Amino acid sequence: MTQTTGRLIDGNALSKQLRAEVAQRAAALKARGITPGLAVILVGDNPASQVYVRNKVKACEDSGLHSVLEKYEASMTEAQLLARIEALNNDPAIHGILVQLPLPAHIDAHKVIEAISPAKDVDGFHVASAGALMVGQPGFWPCTPYGCMKMLESINYDLKGKHAVVIGRSNIVGKPMALMLLGQNATVTVCHSATKDLKAMTLQADVIVAAVGKRNVLTADMVKPGAVVIDVGMNRNDEGKLCGDVDFEGVKQVAGWITPVPGGVGPMTITMLLVNTMEAAERVAAA
Ligand code: NAP
Repeated sequence: MTQTTGRLIDGNALSKQLRAEVAQRAAALKARGITPGLAVILVGDNPASQVYVRNKVKACEDSGLHSVLEKYEASMTEAQLLARIEALNNDPAIHGILVQLPLPAHIDAHKVIEAISPAKDVDGFHVASAGALMVGQPGFWPCTPYGCMKMLESINYDLKGKHAVVIGRSNIVGKPMALMLLGQNATVTVCHSATKDLKAMTLQADVIVAAVGKRNVLTADMVKPGAVVIDVGMNRNDEGKLCGDVDFEGVKQVAGWITPVPGGVGPMTITMLLVNTMEAAERVAAA
C-alpha cells in the first residue's frame, strides 16, 4: 500500500543535492578566475553563535567557496564594526557578508545590517532585500524561509490557490515566509501570539509553517488530514534533545508531508546561504 501520510521532506538529502549544485557552479566560476567568497563576522563569545558560524564556514569550504571568519571581542565598538563592514563592502574577493546575530547590547544590530551593501546581503535581512521581496524584485531572500520554499518545491507542491498558515511573524522567518507563499499564489494567513483561535486557523490550512520557538505549538488535532507541515522551530525537549514546534510523532499520523527536527529546515538554512553567496558572485561576474 502506498503511504499517504507523514511522508518526510528530508532536509539533509535535499541540502546534499543543492550543495552539489552550488559546488558545480562554484567550480564553473572559479574556472573564470572568480572564487565566490563569504565573510562571516562574529562579535563576542555566544556559544550557540560560535557553533552556527563554524557550520557556515565549513559548509562554504565543503562546496568550494572561499570563506573568512572574523571573530571579535564583545568589547568591539559599533564604529569599529561598521568600519569592518565598509572594508568588506569594498573587498572584491568578498561577495557575501554575514553578521551573526545577536550582537552585544551596545551595538545597534539594525544599523549594522543596514551598513551591509544590499549586493552582498546574503542573509537577506537588509531593508532593501525585504523591500525587494515585498515588491517581487530580484534581491536576496532570507535563508530560512527560502529553504522552506525549496522544500515545497522538492515535493512538486503547487501552492496556487492553496491556503497556507504561517505561525510566527518575525522579520527573519514568519513575515518573509508569508510573502514568498503569497508570491506563489497561495492564500496566506499569518498567526502570532495575539491570534485568538490558532487551531481554527490551522485546521483550514493546506500548508502550515510553524516558526514560533515553542514546543508542541502544533498538535495532531490542529492539522487537516493530508496537509503539508513545515517545522522551523528549534527547541530542546525534556531530555535536552533538539526538537521543533510541532508534535512530530502525533502530527505525522495526520499530515501528508512533514519536515523533521533535526534534519529538516536547519540544514536548508545553511544551504540557502551558500546559494545566495553563489548568486551574489555570479551577479558580479555577469556585471
Ligand atoms: P521570534 O522572533 O521569537 O518570533 C516568534 C514568533 O512566534 C512571534 O511572531 C510570536 O508572536 C509568535 N508566537 C509566540 N508564541 C505564539 C503562540 N503561542 N502562538 C502563535 N504564535 C506565537 O522567533 P524567530 O526568529 O522567527 O524563530 C522562530 C523559531 O524558529 C525559533 O525556534 C528559532 O530558533 C527557529 N529558527 C530556526 C532556524 C533554522 O535554521 N532551523 C532559523 C531561524 C529560526 P508575536 O510577534 O506576537 O510576539
